[in-house]
Amino acid sequence: MKLNYLLDKLKSNGYKITEQRKTILQVLTSNNKNLISVENLLDKSKEIYPKTNMSTVYRNLEILEKLSLVYKVVTENGITLYKLVCSNEHHHHIICKKCGRTEAIEFCPINTLEKISKDKNFDLTDHKLELYGYCIDCQSSKNN
Ligand SMILES: [Zn+2]
Ligand SMILES: [Zn+2]
Ligand SMILES: [Zn+2]
Repeated sequence: MKLNYLLDKLKSNGYKITEQRKTILQVLTSNNKNLISVENLLDKSKEIYPKTNMSTVYRNLEILEKLSLVYKVVTENGITLYKLVCSNEHHHHIICKKCGRTEAIEFCPINTLEKISKDKNFDLTDHKLELYGYCIDCQSSKNN
């Protein structure tokens, strides 16, 4: 997702583009391939615009979430990680547990499960599926 697209999207939803907001979006855009923690996002934003503060980062993530522009994962350690959504099409992710690298998977295996749900008299409305593992860079160091 391009920075200009995000800025336009926010503007058209009535949000002002402040220096902090732009900085946070800039960091998210350049980190498109990785999930990032709030702390990490704040640190990287400060490198560009030192006045960025934590509450602004949270507020912006909230707005992005409301506009369905950001994707959020809670790790098994309870840490919340964010990244911009890859596309509006339904898809899944494979996520590196160590560095947060994320690959989109276009294939959706849910049809079979949908049928099973019907057999159990459930009307399936939505689902979430993420695959976790170690990316090639992290595989050699996963036991550390
Ligand atoms: Zn995605
Ligand atoms: Zn990794
Ligand atoms: Zn699916």
